[in-house]
Amino acid sequence: MTIHNMAAMCEPAVPRSTILVVDDVPANIQVLAQILKDQYTVVFAKSGEEALAMAKKVVPDIILLDVMMPGMDGYAVCAKLKASSTLSHIPVIFVTAMGEVEDETKGLEVGAIDYIMKPANPAIVRCRVHNHLEMKRQRDLLRQIALVDGLTGIANRRRFDEVFAAEWRRAQRKQMSLSLIMCDVDHFKNYNDHRGHQAGDDCLRMVAQAIATQINRPGDMAARYGGEEFVCILPDTDLTGAQFIAESIRTELAALGLPHPASPVGSVVSLSLGIATAVPGPDWPAHDLIALADAKLYEAKKSGRDRFCGAIMEQAGAPD
Ligand code: GH3
Ligand code: MG
Ligand code: MG
Repeated sequence: MTIHNMAAMCEPAVPRSTILVVDDVPANIQVLAQILKDQYTVVFAKSGEEALAMAKKVVPDIILLDVMMPGMDGYAVCAKLKASSTLSHIPVIFVTAMGEVEDETKGLEVGAIDYIMKPANPAIVRCRVHNHLEMKRQRDLLRQIALVDGLTGIANRRRFDEVFAAEWRRAQRKQMSLSLIMCDVDHFKNYNDHRGHQAGDDCLRMVAQAIATQINRPGDMAARYGGEEFVCILPDTDLTGAQFIAESIRTELAALGLPHPASPVGSVVSLSLGIATAVPGPDWPAHDLIALADAKLYEAKKSGRDRFCGAIMEQAGAPD
Protein backbone atom coordinates (compact mmCIF):
# COMPACT_ATOMS: atom_id res chain seq x y z
CA MET A 1 0.00 0.00 0.00
CA THR A 2 1.34 3.44 -0.88
CA ILE A 3 1.69 6.21 1.67
CA HIS A 4 -0.95 8.11 -0.28
CA ASN A 5 -3.45 5.25 0.16
CA MET A 6 -2.70 4.98 3.85
CA ALA A 7 -3.37 8.67 4.25
CA ALA A 8 -6.65 8.29 2.37
CA MET A 9 -7.71 5.53 4.79
CA CYS A 10 -7.34 7.99 7.63
CA GLU A 11 -9.36 10.78 5.96
CA PRO A 12 -12.17 11.96 8.23
CA ALA A 13 -15.77 11.10 7.46
CA VAL A 14 -17.78 14.01 6.02
CA PRO A 15 -19.39 16.06 7.59
CA ARG A 16 -16.77 16.92 10.22
CA SER A 17 -17.17 14.70 13.27
CA THR A 18 -17.04 15.94 16.86
CA ILE A 19 -14.77 14.24 19.39
CA LEU A 20 -15.08 14.69 23.14
CA VAL A 21 -11.75 14.32 24.97
CA VAL A 22 -12.04 13.76 28.73
CA ASP A 23 -9.01 13.98 31.05
CA ASP A 24 -8.38 15.65 34.41
CA VAL A 25 -4.85 16.62 33.27
CA PRO A 26 -5.03 19.53 30.77
CA ALA A 27 -1.68 18.54 29.20
CA ASN A 28 -3.15 15.16 28.17
CA ILE A 29 -6.13 16.90 26.54
CA GLN A 30 -3.66 19.14 24.70
CA VAL A 31 -1.79 16.13 23.28
CA LEU A 32 -4.93 14.48 21.90
CA ALA A 33 -6.42 17.78 20.68
CA GLN A 34 -3.17 18.46 18.80
CA ILE A 35 -3.38 15.06 17.10
CA LEU A 36 -7.06 15.35 16.12
CA LYS A 37 -7.87 19.03 15.64
CA ASP A 38 -7.03 19.21 11.93
CA GLN A 39 -9.52 16.51 11.00
CA TYR A 40 -12.19 16.81 13.67
CA THR A 41 -13.94 19.28 15.93
CA VAL A 42 -12.51 18.59 19.38
CA VAL A 43 -14.38 19.50 22.58
CA PHE A 44 -13.12 18.61 26.04
CA ALA A 45 -14.07 18.04 29.67
CA LYS A 46 -11.86 17.89 32.77
CA SER A 47 -14.01 15.70 35.03
CA GLY A 48 -16.56 12.90 34.83
CA GLU A 49 -19.43 15.24 35.66
CA GLU A 50 -18.31 17.76 33.04
CA ALA A 51 -17.99 14.94 30.51
CA LEU A 52 -21.61 13.83 31.00
CA ALA A 53 -22.88 17.42 30.72
CA MET A 54 -20.82 18.01 27.58
CA ALA A 55 -21.91 14.69 26.02
CA LYS A 56 -25.55 15.65 26.59
CA LYS A 57 -24.98 19.11 25.13
CA VAL A 58 -23.04 18.31 21.95
CA VAL A 59 -23.78 14.57 21.43
CA PRO A 60 -20.28 13.86 20.08
CA ASP A 61 -19.51 11.16 17.52
CA ILE A 62 -16.88 9.55 19.72
CA ILE A 63 -15.55 9.97 23.27
CA LEU A 64 -11.90 9.54 24.31
CA LEU A 65 -12.11 8.90 28.03
CA ASP A 66 -9.41 8.89 30.70
CA VAL A 67 -9.86 6.07 33.24
CA MET A 68 -8.28 7.58 36.36
CA MET A 69 -9.96 10.81 37.37
CA PRO A 70 -10.71 12.21 40.82
CA GLY A 71 -14.41 11.97 41.73
CA MET A 72 -16.32 10.14 39.02
CA ASP A 73 -13.80 7.93 37.19
CA GLY A 74 -13.88 6.83 33.54
CA TYR A 75 -15.67 3.56 34.30
CA ALA A 76 -18.51 5.38 36.06
CA VAL A 77 -18.80 7.89 33.20
CA CYS A 78 -18.88 5.10 30.62
CA ALA A 79 -21.51 3.12 32.58
CA LYS A 80 -23.72 6.23 32.81
CA LEU A 81 -23.36 6.94 29.09
CA LYS A 82 -24.28 3.35 28.21
CA ALA A 83 -27.38 3.55 30.45
CA SER A 84 -28.65 6.66 28.63
CA SER A 85 -31.13 6.09 25.82
CA THR A 86 -29.85 9.14 23.92
CA LEU A 87 -26.07 8.71 24.47
CA SER A 88 -25.53 4.93 24.56
CA HIS A 89 -24.80 4.78 20.82
CA ILE A 90 -21.68 6.98 21.13
CA PRO A 91 -18.50 4.86 20.98
CA VAL A 92 -16.25 5.28 24.01
CA ILE A 93 -12.49 4.67 23.74
CA PHE A 94 -10.55 4.53 27.00
CA VAL A 95 -7.19 6.29 27.00
CA THR A 96 -5.03 4.67 29.65
CA ALA A 97 -1.41 4.33 30.81
CA MET A 98 0.46 1.04 30.16
CA GLY A 99 0.26 -0.02 33.82
CA GLU A 100 -3.53 -0.17 33.68
CA VAL A 101 -3.77 -2.96 31.10
CA GLU A 102 -5.28 -5.33 33.69
CA ASP A 103 -8.27 -2.99 33.89
CA GLU A 104 -8.98 -3.43 30.18
CA THR A 105 -11.63 -6.10 30.78
CA LYS A 106 -13.43 -3.87 33.22
CA GLY A 107 -13.53 -1.05 30.67
CA LEU A 108 -14.85 -3.31 27.93
CA GLU A 109 -17.42 -4.73 30.34
CA VAL A 110 -18.85 -1.29 31.09
CA GLY A 111 -19.29 -0.73 27.36
CA ALA A 112 -16.07 0.79 25.94
CA ILE A 113 -15.38 -0.17 22.35
CA ASP A 114 -11.56 0.10 22.45
CA TYR A 115 -8.44 1.17 24.33
CA ILE A 116 -5.65 3.56 23.41
CA MET A 117 -2.43 3.42 25.40
CA LYS A 118 -0.72 6.49 26.86
CA PRO A 119 1.51 8.03 25.71
CA ALA A 120 -0.69 8.43 22.65
CA ASN A 121 0.88 7.61 19.30
CA PRO A 122 -0.52 10.14 16.79
CA ALA A 123 -0.86 7.73 13.85
CA ILE A 124 -2.56 5.06 15.97
CA VAL A 125 -4.93 7.55 17.58
CA ARG A 126 -5.94 8.95 14.18
CA CYS A 127 -6.49 5.52 12.62
CA ARG A 128 -8.41 4.06 15.59
CA VAL A 129 -10.64 7.13 15.78
CA HIS A 130 -11.20 7.05 12.03
CA ASN A 131 -12.08 3.34 12.05
CA HIS A 132 -14.53 3.65 14.92
CA LEU A 133 -16.16 6.70 13.34
CA GLU A 134 -16.57 4.76 10.12
CA MET A 135 -18.18 1.84 11.96
CA LYS A 136 -20.49 4.25 13.80
CA ARG A 137 -21.48 5.87 10.52
CA GLN A 138 -22.43 2.46 9.12
CA ARG A 139 -24.35 1.51 12.29
CA ASP A 140 -26.24 4.83 12.20
CA LEU A 141 -27.08 4.26 8.54
CA LEU A 142 -28.38 0.74 9.19
CA ARG A 143 -30.46 1.99 12.09
CA GLN A 144 -31.84 4.75 9.89
CA ILE A 145 -32.77 2.23 7.21
CA ALA A 146 -34.30 -0.12 9.79
CA LEU A 147 -36.44 2.50 11.54
CA VAL A 148 -37.43 5.06 8.91
CA ASP A 149 -40.16 4.53 6.33
CA GLY A 150 -38.55 4.56 2.89
CA LEU A 151 -41.44 6.27 1.11
CA THR A 152 -42.35 9.09 3.49
CA GLY A 153 -39.18 9.60 5.56
CA ILE A 154 -41.06 9.48 8.89
CA ALA A 155 -40.75 6.69 11.48
CA ASN A 156 -41.80 3.24 10.31
CA ARG A 157 -43.96 0.58 11.95
CA ARG A 158 -40.99 -1.06 13.68
CA ARG A 159 -40.00 2.26 15.26
CA PHE A 160 -43.61 2.88 16.26
CA ASP A 161 -43.79 -0.53 17.99
CA GLU A 162 -40.58 0.23 19.93
CA VAL A 163 -41.55 3.73 21.00
CA PHE A 164 -45.17 2.89 21.80
CA ALA A 165 -44.14 -0.03 24.06
CA ALA A 166 -41.71 2.24 25.93
CA GLU A 167 -44.22 5.11 26.25
CA TRP A 168 -46.94 2.73 27.46
CA ARG A 169 -44.63 1.47 30.25
CA ARG A 170 -43.69 5.03 31.13
CA ALA A 171 -47.34 6.11 31.31
CA GLN A 172 -48.06 3.08 33.55
CA ARG A 173 -45.18 3.94 35.84
CA LYS A 174 -45.88 7.67 36.07
CA GLN A 175 -49.67 7.38 35.83
CA MET A 176 -49.79 9.88 32.97
CA SER A 177 -52.15 10.12 30.02
CA LEU A 178 -50.98 8.61 26.76
CA SER A 179 -52.86 9.27 23.52
CA LEU A 180 -52.79 7.65 20.09
CA ILE A 181 -54.21 9.07 16.88
CA MET A 182 -54.77 6.63 14.01
CA CYS A 183 -55.11 8.41 10.66
CA ASP A 184 -56.36 6.81 7.44
CA VAL A 185 -56.60 8.52 4.05
CA ASP A 186 -60.19 8.63 2.80
CA HIS A 187 -60.99 6.71 -0.38
CA PHE A 188 -57.34 6.35 -1.24
CA LYS A 189 -57.94 3.36 -3.48
CA ASN A 190 -59.99 5.68 -5.74
CA TYR A 191 -57.12 8.18 -5.70
CA ASN A 192 -54.67 5.56 -6.95
CA ASP A 193 -57.15 4.29 -9.50
CA HIS A 194 -57.68 7.79 -10.93
CA ARG A 195 -54.24 9.34 -10.63
CA GLY A 196 -51.90 6.35 -10.67
CA HIS A 197 -49.60 4.86 -8.06
CA GLN A 198 -46.85 7.43 -8.56
CA ALA A 199 -49.19 10.28 -7.71
CA GLY A 200 -50.50 8.12 -4.85
CA ASP A 201 -46.98 7.85 -3.44
CA ASP A 202 -46.45 11.62 -3.75
CA CYS A 203 -49.74 12.16 -1.94
CA LEU A 204 -48.68 9.86 0.93
CA ARG A 205 -45.44 11.85 1.31
CA MET A 206 -47.39 15.09 1.62
CA VAL A 207 -49.92 13.60 4.03
CA ALA A 208 -47.02 12.32 6.19
CA GLN A 209 -45.48 15.80 6.29
CA ALA A 210 -48.82 17.43 7.09
CA ILE A 211 -49.21 15.06 10.06
CA ALA A 212 -45.60 15.32 11.24
CA THR A 213 -45.60 19.12 11.26
CA GLN A 214 -48.58 19.27 13.63
CA ILE A 215 -46.85 17.48 16.49
CA ASN A 216 -43.97 19.34 18.05
CA ARG A 217 -43.51 18.36 21.68
CA PRO A 218 -40.47 16.32 22.69
CA GLY A 219 -41.61 12.69 22.89
CA ASP A 220 -44.37 13.12 20.28
CA MET A 221 -43.97 10.88 17.26
CA ALA A 222 -45.66 10.39 13.87
CA ALA A 223 -45.16 7.07 12.09
CA ARG A 224 -46.42 5.27 9.01
CA TYR A 225 -48.46 2.41 10.42
CA GLY A 226 -48.86 0.70 7.05
CA GLY A 227 -50.26 1.43 3.56
CA GLU A 228 -52.17 4.74 3.77
CA GLU A 229 -52.44 4.64 7.55
CA PHE A 230 -50.45 6.81 9.93
CA VAL A 231 -50.27 6.97 13.71
CA CYS A 232 -49.26 9.62 16.25
CA ILE A 233 -48.00 8.86 19.75
CA LEU A 234 -48.68 11.71 22.17
CA PRO A 235 -47.18 11.13 25.63
CA ASP A 236 -48.56 13.08 28.61
CA THR A 237 -51.52 14.21 26.49
CA ASP A 238 -55.18 13.83 27.48
CA LEU A 239 -58.15 13.38 25.17
CA THR A 240 -58.76 17.14 24.82
CA GLY A 241 -55.13 17.68 23.81
CA ALA A 242 -55.24 14.82 21.31
CA GLN A 243 -58.50 16.13 19.83
CA PHE A 244 -56.82 19.50 19.33
CA ILE A 245 -53.95 17.84 17.44
CA ALA A 246 -56.33 15.68 15.38
CA GLU A 247 -58.29 18.75 14.32
CA SER A 248 -55.09 20.62 13.43
CA ILE A 249 -53.99 17.68 11.25
CA ARG A 250 -57.39 17.63 9.56
CA THR A 251 -57.36 21.38 8.88
CA GLU A 252 -53.72 21.33 7.72
CA LEU A 253 -54.61 18.71 5.14
CA ALA A 254 -57.68 20.69 4.03
CA ALA A 255 -55.45 23.78 3.70
CA LEU A 256 -53.00 21.83 1.54
CA GLY A 257 -55.87 21.25 -0.88
CA LEU A 258 -54.51 18.17 -2.65
CA PRO A 259 -57.09 17.54 -5.40
CA HIS A 260 -58.99 14.24 -5.09
CA PRO A 261 -61.57 14.35 -7.91
CA ALA A 262 -62.69 10.77 -7.21
CA SER A 263 -63.52 11.30 -3.53
CA PRO A 264 -67.18 11.01 -2.55
CA VAL A 265 -66.31 13.05 0.60
CA GLY A 266 -65.05 16.31 -0.96
CA SER A 267 -62.81 17.68 -3.69
CA VAL A 268 -59.53 17.35 -1.78
CA VAL A 269 -57.64 14.57 0.01
CA SER A 270 -58.94 14.10 3.54
CA LEU A 271 -58.27 11.88 6.54
CA SER A 272 -60.38 10.07 9.08
CA LEU A 273 -58.86 9.92 12.56
CA GLY A 274 -59.43 7.71 15.59
CA ILE A 275 -58.20 8.84 19.00
CA ALA A 276 -57.68 6.73 22.10
CA THR A 277 -56.41 7.99 25.46
CA ALA A 278 -55.53 6.13 28.63
CA VAL A 279 -53.90 6.48 32.01
CA PRO A 280 -52.96 2.81 31.82
CA GLY A 281 -53.41 0.45 34.74
CA PRO A 282 -50.51 -1.83 35.73
CA ASP A 283 -51.63 -4.91 33.81
CA TRP A 284 -53.43 -3.32 30.86
CA PRO A 285 -52.12 -4.60 27.52
CA ALA A 286 -50.69 -1.86 25.27
CA HIS A 287 -52.44 -3.33 22.28
CA ASP A 288 -55.86 -2.42 23.74
CA LEU A 289 -55.13 1.27 23.12
CA ILE A 290 -54.36 0.56 19.48
CA ALA A 291 -57.58 -1.47 19.21
CA LEU A 292 -59.59 1.42 20.71
CA ALA A 293 -58.00 3.95 18.33
CA ASP A 294 -58.82 1.59 15.44
CA ALA A 295 -62.43 1.28 16.61
CA LYS A 296 -62.72 5.08 16.79
CA LEU A 297 -61.21 5.39 13.31
CA TYR A 298 -63.83 2.96 12.03
CA GLU A 299 -66.51 5.09 13.71
CA ALA A 300 -65.14 8.21 11.98
CA LYS A 301 -65.28 6.40 8.64
CA LYS A 302 -68.84 5.17 9.24
CA SER A 303 -70.09 8.58 10.27
CA GLY A 304 -68.97 10.36 7.10
CA ARG A 305 -65.11 10.49 6.99
CA ASP A 306 -62.99 13.71 7.10
CA ARG A 307 -63.46 13.85 10.90
CA PHE A 308 -62.17 12.44 14.15
CA CYS A 309 -63.77 10.32 16.87
CA GLY A 310 -62.14 9.68 20.22
CA ALA A 311 -62.58 7.85 23.49
CA ILE A 312 -60.90 7.30 26.85
CA MET A 313 -59.92 3.75 27.72
CA GLU A 314 -61.40 3.06 31.18
CA GLN A 315 -60.34 -0.55 31.67
CA ALA A 316 -58.43 -3.38 30.02
CA GLY A 317 -60.27 -5.31 27.34
CA ALA A 318 -60.49 -4.67 23.63
CA PRO A 319 -63.54 -2.71 22.43
CA ASP A 320 -66.32 -4.50 20.49
P1 GH3 B 1 -61.39 4.32 3.18
O1 GH3 B 1 -61.88 5.71 3.03
O2 GH3 B 1 -62.43 3.41 3.70
O3 GH3 B 1 -60.14 4.26 3.97
O4 GH3 B 1 -61.06 3.80 1.71
P2 GH3 B 1 -59.65 3.49 1.07
O5 GH3 B 1 -59.83 3.35 -0.39
O6 GH3 B 1 -58.65 4.50 1.50
O7 GH3 B 1 -59.27 2.15 1.80
P3 GH3 B 1 -58.72 0.79 1.27
O8 GH3 B 1 -58.16 0.13 2.49
O9 GH3 B 1 -59.78 0.07 0.49
O10 GH3 B 1 -57.57 1.15 0.28
C1 GH3 B 1 -56.33 1.58 0.68
C2 GH3 B 1 -55.52 1.83 -0.54
O11 GH3 B 1 -54.25 2.42 -0.21
C3 GH3 B 1 -55.19 0.58 -1.29
C4 GH3 B 1 -53.84 0.83 -1.89
O12 GH3 B 1 -53.95 0.96 -3.28
C5 GH3 B 1 -53.41 2.14 -1.30
N1 GH3 B 1 -52.03 2.10 -0.81
C6 GH3 B 1 -51.55 1.46 0.27
N2 GH3 B 1 -50.21 1.63 0.35
C7 GH3 B 1 -49.83 2.41 -0.69
C8 GH3 B 1 -48.59 2.95 -1.15
O13 GH3 B 1 -47.53 2.73 -0.57
N3 GH3 B 1 -48.59 3.71 -2.27
C9 GH3 B 1 -49.76 3.96 -2.93
N4 GH3 B 1 -49.70 4.73 -4.02
N5 GH3 B 1 -50.92 3.48 -2.54
C10 GH3 B 1 -50.99 2.71 -1.43
MG1 MG C 1 -56.66 1.79 5.32
MG1 MG D 1 -58.16 4.65 3.56
